[in-house]
Amino acid sequence: MMSGSSQHDASPGTRPPDASRAAGAPGSGVLALPVGVDGNAWDWPARIGLAVYHALALLAFLPWFFSWTGVVLAALGLYVYGTLGINLCYHRILTHRGLSVPKWLERLFVTLGICCLQDTPARWIAIHRLHHQLADLQRDPHSPLVTLLWGHVGWLFVQNRDTADVAEYERYVRDILKDPYYLALEENDLWLLWINVTQWLVYFAGGLCTGWLMYGNLATAVQFGLSVWLWGVIVRTVVVWHITWTVNSLAHRWGYRTYETGDNSRNNWLVAWISNGEGWHNNHHADPMAAAHGHQWWEVDVTWTTVKLLERVGLASKVVRPRAWNVTER
Ligand SMILES: [Zn+2]
Ligand SMILES: [Zn+2]
Repeated sequence: MMSGSSQHDASPGTRPPDASRAAGAPGSGVLALPVGVDGNAWDWPARIGLAVYHALALLAFLPWFFSWTGVVLAALGLYVYGTLGINLCYHRILTHRGLSVPKWLERLFVTLGICCLQDTPARWIAIHRLHHQLADLQRDPHSPLVTLLWGHVGWLFVQNRDTADVAEYERYVRDILKDPYYLALEENDLWLLWINVTQWLVYFAGGLCTGWLMYGNLATAVQFGLSVWLWGVIVRTVVVWHITWTVNSLAHRWGYRTYETGDNSRNNWLVAWISNGEGWHNNHHADPMAAAHGHQWWEVDVTWTTVKLLERVGLASKVVRPRAWNVTER
């Protein structure tokens, strides 16, 4: 993919002419692992975090943990954290500069993104800009042309020298690191931990207090608090992970292509619907800075609808519309 971005210090906006296709061109179904990947260098924190969250999420199948309140919180959370935190802020605002919002709101959205446990904003953005620059070439951090599973989640299990530490990826995110909050997140991993521990406690305590008021019984209140925590945080986090990952995996393998991009990106209906618009991925690779990923009226893009609402109430500016629209307003 291309990153769009003449504005980024690293200028990863064009595909280098010597970019190695290693084994096979995009679409061939055969691509070697990125050269920076050492299959023996396991990313232990990522493996443990992914395993623990998936194991905890399985508790949702036990009736003891069920509550409709928890289910509703999980569903709302897909939008609040996944769409506002990841799609809108990490991706369309910060990675591609498709729009601007006031700094207080940007930092609020970033904090929602951190609650998705998809890494710090700077590292997420560096990986994504690298992906745009070298999509479906060997150094793409997560091309599903290696294998579908690699593109979906496998790339998170091992370390990649290109993105292992800030000294390597700093050149991709100089603009991001100018913000003291985002820089602090890089300098101390504990921030990420504490923000997430805080959300655990807020959800559990909120459920506990509400359960106590509703039932007047401590045991029932604890059960209700745990239900709110499990569904509102754990299940929602795991579902948002898989939704984000399908953009990297399915939307680089299956779907239709509106634009001839130099990669294997696709517009995938399923991914677009579950991700609130990110699945119109071929459109996005063709025009990365555009804040709208759906280019046709029927390419529903809830994240873009959100951008328009923010713009309408004066909270979004410098909104970049797709080149394909010319001056047509949607
Ligand atoms: Zn892509
Ligand atoms: Zn992108």
